[in-house]
Amino acid sequence: MINEAAYLNIEQLSKAQNVQLIAVSKLQSNEKIQALYGLGQFHFAENYVQELVAKASALPEEIIWHFIGHLQSNKVKDVVPYVQYIHSIDNLKLLQEIQKRAAAINKKIKVLLQIKIAQEDTKYGLNPSSLNALMQQFNPSHFTHVHIVGVMGMASFVDDKNIVQQEFQTLKNVFDSLKKKYFSNSNHFKEISMGMSQDYTLAIQEGSTMVRIGSALFGNRTV
Ligand SMILES: *Cc1c(COP(=O)(O)O)cnc(C)c1O
Repeated sequence: MINEAAYLNIEQLSKAQNVQLIAVSKLQSNEKIQALYGLGQFHFAENYVQELVAKASALPEEIIWHFIGHLQSNKVKDVVPYVQYIHSIDNLKLLQEIQKRAAAINKKIKVLLQIKIAQEDTKYGLNPSSLNALMQQFNPSHFTHVHIVGVMGMASFVDDKNIVQQEFQTLKNVFDSLKKKYFSNSNHFKEISMGMSQDYTLAIQEGSTMVRIGSALFGNRTV
């Protein structure tokens, strides 16, 4: 059973704030995805390549799939045919591989740079120096089939709201400075993907444009 009341609430809040609600369906059944789709939800996100491929092949073509998990270059070719967005870009090689595979099937992929904002070591993402290095090497004219549309981050899993708030502010600042320095003429660069079940209201308050919400909509994942 999906949590329909929570969905309707979060959907209403997102709409009012001009935020895209992305339903994170990793480790959730096709039946639950269909139920949410039936309520009008079109954007879904997956973390694991095999699971994405299986679900995207079986579920309605109208679904807009986002890939939000850690992605290895050798898996890019499997993901590209199914997704419109990849949120987890943390190196240039990944961008180059997406460009190659997207061009081969004449598709444009929207991508977000994953920024490390949490203090925990386990989180993936670009730190200030690796982000700077990536941007120095990035030549937009080589990326005809990749649009960098924004940044993505995951806050720490802590109860202290001040810490989470500071991390969201960090991501907003990174977005603003990238926009100013590299994307001031880009219509594409506009997304700040932040906020999950625990912290989406705070994320929206701090400028999120895309929230990625799983368990609040679907219930706990069966791991
Ligand atoms: C699982 C996941 C989410 C959703 O988490 P919930 O706490 O279930 O809302 C969002 N973003 C990423 C990157 C995830 O891996």
